[in-house]
Amino acid sequence: MSRRLGVFGSTGSVGVSTLDLLAQARARGAEFELSVLTAGRNVALLAEQALAWRPERAVIADPTLQGELNERLKGSGVRVEAGEAAVAEAAELRLDWIMAAIVGAAGLRPTLAAARTGAVIALANKESLVCAGPALLAAAQASGGRVIPVDSEHSAIFQVLQPECHARLKRLILTASGGPFRAWGRERMAAASPREAVSHPNWSMGAKISVDSATMMNKGLEMIEASYLFAVPEPKIDVLVHPQSVVHSLVEYEDGSTLAQLGPPDMRAPIAYAFAYPERIAWDAPGLDLAQTATLSFEAPDPDRFPALRLARNVLSRGGGAPAALNAANEVAVRAFLEGAIGFLAIAETVERTLEAMDSRGELNGTLSNGSALDFALAVDALARTRAAEALAPSKTRNAV
Ligand code: NDP
Repeated sequence: MSRRLGVFGSTGSVGVSTLDLLAQARARGAEFELSVLTAGRNVALLAEQALAWRPERAVIADPTLQGELNERLKGSGVRVEAGEAAVAEAAELRLDWIMAAIVGAAGLRPTLAAARTGAVIALANKESLVCAGPALLAAAQASGGRVIPVDSEHSAIFQVLQPECHARLKRLILTASGGPFRAWGRERMAAASPREAVSHPNWSMGAKISVDSATMMNKGLEMIEASYLFAVPEPKIDVLVHPQSVVHSLVEYEDGSTLAQLGPPDMRAPIAYAFAYPERIAWDAPGLDLAQTATLSFEAPDPDRFPALRLARNVLSRGGGAPAALNAANEVAVRAFLEGAIGFLAIAETVERTLEAMDSRGELNGTLSNGSALDFALAVDALARTRAAEALAPSKTRNAV
């Protein structure tokens, strides 16, 4: 029987790359049914994808767009659903493999729902792991499912980590491109526009992760993600700036060996790995020409210009609701920056103020809810959004993207 697949966040950067990869896999003989496609608001692209792929269901998270999606898919045989609850419901269908590529904490409910069904989850949505990592991984394990990382760094570690040598693991080293402001001074960063922040030198990605990459909060979220995924504590996770984005991450063992995975910066590579795991598939992969690349360089990140790394380390050591609070505050601050309401450096400042405000009120220590891990993560998330809105650092208004 062919595998039943779902792509959650199909209209985004990872979603579109996933559909491209799946089209290539099908053309090379892979057998599967694409059963679910979901999007947030981009009804035109979702409809176009649904007409091309004919899934059982197409779900749009914004309920005001249901009528338009119905209209566009009239007579196609594709069932249309709308609303955030419908996205999570679609994740409860018996799917064998899902791509979790919704951006932000909005991905938490559907990803957790899928984890409970026993599906293999190709996880791009790092925010769901940051908010509720232990619960998500436990749900996947209990249901017989599996989480395969899609973030290129974690895919790299997943590919080279030797589980039987876990006790001899010395360090995980996450590589970071350094983003568009790697070589900028603080003053110039303070005046950076949203357009400059989303212009990533190596990767073409959605706006939120592009800004996270510019602040290096992305690497902070990835440290938390790596700690949960690979059961490695914070002190054993390092970050190394590597502007070429060819070495995707490294694993160092106590015997002095360091293993790395290399490849051109193309998200379809980790997506292909997560799709075919434990095998590999051929696709139209760009080759790695190291003679052409010529130089691979590495440097330590600058903690003064990129305070997000310190904030992420702190919440990871602290645990409880702190990672979910950091994530929510960051989402609020990034949105404010993209809308031109605050300056670039105010993003990390807002996150720090939010964490301080919540800490001083005792809101990070697990007493917010007596319910499930999901309830707890959602409660912290909601409260952190309120605190972050209060904490938004006053700053010069800038032009939105
Ligand atoms: P995009 O912003 O390009 O796409 C996000 C997707 O999520 C879109 O399909 C969007 O729908 C959908 N979406 C947004 N809000 C909601 C919501 N409230 N409910 C349901 N769906 C929603 O993001 P990326 O593809 O860049 O990133 C997706 C995830 O993958 C993020 O967690 C990111 O950190 C991670 N990631 C991305 C990488 C990349 O190269 N882009 C690399 C590694 C990880 P619509 O567009 O229709 O509104």
